[in-house]
Amino acid sequence: MADFIRLAGRFADQKGMGAYVVGGFVRDLFLGVANYDIDLVVEGDAIAFAEGFCEKFSLHAVTHKRFGTATISGMEGFKADIASARKETYEKPAVLPAVSFGLIQDDLFRRDFTINAMAIAINASCFGRLMDFYGGQDDLKKGFIRALHPLSFIDDPTRILRAVRFEQRFDFKIERQTLSWIKEAVRRSMLHLVQKHRLRDELLLIFNEKMPLKPLKRLYALCGFSYISEGLRFQRHWPHYFQQASKRIAWYREHFANRRHIEPYAIYFSLFFYPLPLKDIKKAMLDFAFHKGASSRLVSLKENIHTIRNGLSKKNAMPSTVWRLLEPLSYEVVLLAEILSRHKEVSRHIEDFLFIYNGQRLHLKGEDLAGLGVEPGPHFKKILDKLLMAKIDGIVRDKEEELRLAQKLMQK
Ligand code: ATP
Repeated sequence: MADFIRLAGRFADQKGMGAYVVGGFVRDLFLGVANYDIDLVVEGDAIAFAEGFCEKFSLHAVTHKRFGTATISGMEGFKADIASARKETYEKPAVLPAVSFGLIQDDLFRRDFTINAMAIAINASCFGRLMDFYGGQDDLKKGFIRALHPLSFIDDPTRILRAVRFEQRFDFKIERQTLSWIKEAVRRSMLHLVQKHRLRDELLLIFNEKMPLKPLKRLYALCGFSYISEGLRFQRHWPHYFQQASKRIAWYREHFANRRHIEPYAIYFSLFFYPLPLKDIKKAMLDFAFHKGASSRLVSLKENIHTIRNGLSKKNAMPSTVWRLLEPLSYEVVLLAEILSRHKEVSRHIEDFLFIYNGQRLHLKGEDLAGLGVEPGPHFKKILDKLLMAKIDGIVRDKEEELRLAQKLMQK
């Protein structure tokens, strides 16, 4: 990573551009927190810089022409986002600003908090020089989240979610005056004016935090959730559910590391919206254009939870019944069903499903059935399905028994 930064600095020298590492990367460097996303700012055209750099060093750049940014990948274990130093002018509150090329000072002034508004020069002549115009280093030491100016949250109310997220992640405090600016923006209902997709992106970053309930609790105390959905309130049961979720995610990863990858954020996201009635959930999913996968998992949870709970709370539920109830669901929904059910039998059945039933395979193959004279088609699939259920229920145990049952089923 250090080599990459030096090379980028030298390349900027050749192009006659100022170049800096900035933002969260610099903040985390001072905090001693690992960060594998380098944020680079160049005083000039970032896309031309990224394309030229990648050509020279055989790396790969994805450019985002609309934003004038690029992402360089191809390095081991980290990536780099490159942006042009920008100057922003907010013409209307809560609406994205007009943007023009600027110098690093301009770029740092448009940032959210002092701790994110530091840069380190990487050009050879001044490599390592810290640019900290707003006291970011001091605030890092004191543990303060401090905005750069009084209109910060009026210009961009999503910064309220960001302030809370960083405060809770680092166990910092939102500085007193900054808190009063936030309260003023809340009093003026600024969060209701923001485009929903921008709120969505910040909400997703909260669900991606290690402990998302902390920022959610703080956010609720500061400004409620009415800008997300009118009826949404902080739930008494959330602390229990979120804690269970984090334990279950760790448990899943420990036991099923090689199985399907699960998305923790989708679990927290579902717990958050779950208290709403189905029609409000569907509306929120549409309004915010949440990712289809996360939305459909949540809707399927809401629609199926009663059937799952009823089916799985029976002590003597057949393994095949458990399998039929859980197999069509994503693993995130399976874990959610367990977390929300708070029922010993449900947990036991879900664990059996994951440990035992879900891995079951028949000894018989399609060609074995064809060998018995079964024509390929729906009938074929039905027989294989019944055989698998018999296997899961322990009725057939080896290939011989599977064959015998297959013959019986064919005669029916
Ligand atoms: P994380 O550790 O969560 O990735 P980050 O600081 O890298 O934190 P990003 O959301 O990736 O956060 O943003 C990168 C940088 O862009 C921030 O450090 C901040 O300087 C700036 N930034 C992002 N969003 C805003 C915003 N809404 N207003 C002003 N500056 C912002």
